[in-house]
Amino acid sequence: MTQAIVDTEIFARLKAGDVAACRMCVEEHSDELYRLAYRMVRDEQAAEDIVQDTFLNAFKGLERFDGRATLGTWLFRIAYNNALMRLRAQKPMASLDEDAEFVENAPAPVVVPWRETPQEIVEQREMSAQLNNAIATLPTTLRAVFQLRDIEERSTAETAEILGLSEAAVKVRLHRARLALRERLSEYLRETNEPYPATMTCEQLLPYLSDYIDNAVDEPLAEAARQHLATCTHCHVLLDTTEMTITLLQRDKTRTIPAADRAALFAEIQNAFAARAK
Ligand SMILES: [Zn+2]
Repeated sequence: MTQAIVDTEIFARLKAGDVAACRMCVEEHSDELYRLAYRMVRDEQAAEDIVQDTFLNAFKGLERFDGRATLGTWLFRIAYNNALMRLRAQKPMASLDEDAEFVENAPAPVVVPWRETPQEIVEQREMSAQLNNAIATLPTTLRAVFQLRDIEERSTAETAEILGLSEAAVKVRLHRARLALRERLSEYLRETNEPYPATMTCEQLLPYLSDYIDNAVDEPLAEAARQHLATCTHCHVLLDTTEMTITLLQRDKTRTIPAADRAALFAEIQNAFAARAK
């Protein structure tokens, strides 16, 4: 069965007030919603509240759901908007303009190889906090894009739909987020040796680096990139360490709603659902 058929069935059951369908839905989607919310608001309790609000909003909106998005996409979109509202309530003056600025004004990265492999890095206990701090320095939308694309492994199209951005905007933000994160991690991992002298410009490759990592460039461009990478240590290291950055941060996928709160949260959501169904 395709996801769309499964979702259509679950929607029908939810609309009919089926509590088992509600439990399935909560169990399947809570942790990914929690991770996105936590990534944005950086507070466990607030993230749990967002998960709860998301399901309550979803139950209220069941009748209006038009079936064009999958259940996961729909829930992510509600959670994202709930997180945004919460952030705006905290900082009414903050706008998403910071994201545009970040995307446009990013400086060219300084590229130095890392001595450690991802495995060695994660064995250093303090790195986990540093990985999270690195993501926390990104503007909100970039954090959400990174979380959805690289940690939850959602497609560009789905991420665009969840965040209300164009696919092009998602790509630009993912690219910037990855490079910025790589740079942040470099502050912890940089070796003491000097940066490589910039004997060649790599400007032609840089805009495609993220697409190259995702195997999303045309073959002629991929071939050109491979040739450049074979001769350019700078870009080779940039590619390598950016890929390592993604690998490292994907470890955060293990974050779940804390066990102590889980049962109570799920029960509250289900009770709200049952009350609605009556
Ligand atoms: Zn280069």
